[in-house]
Amino acid sequence: MSELHYKTLSETAAMLQAGEITAEQAVQACLDRIEATEPSVKALISVQGEQALAKARELDGQGPDPAKPLWGVPMVLKDLLTTKGVTTTCASKFLENFVPFYDATVVEKLDAAGAICIAKANMDEFAMGSSTENSAYFKTANPWDLERVPGGSSGGSGATVAAGQCAAALGTDTGGSIRLPASFCGVTGLKPTYGRVSRYGMVAFGSSLDQIGPMARSVEDCARVLQVIAGHDPKDSTSVDCEVPDYLAGLDRKDLSGLTIGLPEQYWPDPDKEGGLSPEVDQACRNAVAKMEELGAKTVPVQLGLTDYAIATYYIIAMAEASSNLSRFDGIRYGKRAENAEELIDLYTKSRTQGFGDEVQRRIIIGSYVLSAGYYDAYYGKAAKVRRLIRRNFDKAFESCDLIAGPVCPTTAFKSGEKADPLQMYLIDIFTISCNLAGLPGMSMPVGLGADTNMPIGLQLLGPSFSEDLMLSAANTLEKNLPPMPSPGL
Ligand code: GLN
Repeated sequence: MSELHYKTLSETAAMLQAGEITAEQAVQACLDRIEATEPSVKALISVQGEQALAKARELDGQGPDPAKPLWGVPMVLKDLLTTKGVTTTCASKFLENFVPFYDATVVEKLDAAGAICIAKANMDEFAMGSSTENSAYFKTANPWDLERVPGGSSGGSGATVAAGQCAAALGTDTGGSIRLPASFCGVTGLKPTYGRVSRYGMVAFGSSLDQIGPMARSVEDCARVLQVIAGHDPKDSTSVDCEVPDYLAGLDRKDLSGLTIGLPEQYWPDPDKEGGLSPEVDQACRNAVAKMEELGAKTVPVQLGLTDYAIATYYIIAMAEASSNLSRFDGIRYGKRAENAEELIDLYTKSRTQGFGDEVQRRIIIGSYVLSAGYYDAYYGKAAKVRRLIRRNFDKAFESCDLIAGPVCPTTAFKSGEKADPLQMYLIDIFTISCNLAGLPGMSMPVGLGADTNMPIGLQLLGPSFSEDLMLSAANTLEKNLPPMPSPGL
């Protein structure tokens, strides 16, 4: 079954429904691939092999079911989605042995659609990072070049899909954590509109920014997974009660005529100037935009004038929310409890000092600071106002275009250890975080390999709230008209 590795989810699902392969064969093929590639890629924190095979056999006993669109499809979950009876670590020592007693809503929905969860993916601890180097357990390698990072924080999800270990994965995106690893690993990733997918059972980082979304080997695959996980959930008060369109029905367009693509000046900084795009990223993304024009799309310049403020705004809001969300990890209710504590405060301090890594502690400290009485107005209050203005920037831009296009990141995947300074790491989020601040949908799709590094390059598409259907159909049309993306030589 080795030929299954690089098939798309759509192809695998069709073979399963047609009875050409059994669910057990599909799962076993992924487990074999994991065995072969995991020693070098290290994308996964845990593998539920026996459990997945048992579920597959159960499904095979019942036979394929067209009412279950992901029947028998092997999938991987980022390890901050709660899974009943299966450890959910958030790549933190704090939750090393944490076994939830309930499934996240997205996990329930995948299960109801017939998907089989085979493993939990590595990530930056509590989703804080852009390279998966902040995992408390181990670093994940980029399947295209093992010395390079897979991006983050959903780097395990990106790498497992790129390495052909599963049909698709779920990631989460608070400031780019689906789109960046998708770009670095040469896969497609979609961050839905805030409220489109239930966050119930996702361990919270920045609650007003977090969204769960699919990562897969084609645009159509992302549409299939989104179709299953989207929708209102009474258990998440921020999930929006509006109809989920049929993402597959509108997917195939003849061309892109009638579509106007906005190109924000701020997302295309001159490659010849300091702080510009790397020439290979500029070139690959421009080629993709030219292809969209060839397919009939019109392009117009737009302004996202507050882009320079986005990093500061995002990191104030994300850290403030993180400090509040992570206060529940006190050594009493969940996870790690320090031994030899002398009294209550000592227990909190020791448990949190031992359980959290450096980046998480840094964020809790800064987040508490920006929320503290004397500084709230100067930092958090100000950031909340700028956030509103960033949203208005987008509203204005979408008056003259349907979708926005630009790079996901100024460079391709960098080498592990290259960005040891946290501020340098924060800066690479420049093009992804405004989308979360504004609550908008965004995606990354591979548009080729870089002329200098030979690493994958992602084009980012951004759209108005709940325009996932339009975005997916435009991306699908572009994908079908670009040369097929090669696979990493693993
Ligand atoms: N890199 C960003 C951060 O570290 C975004 C992370 C994310 O989207 N989870 O906060």
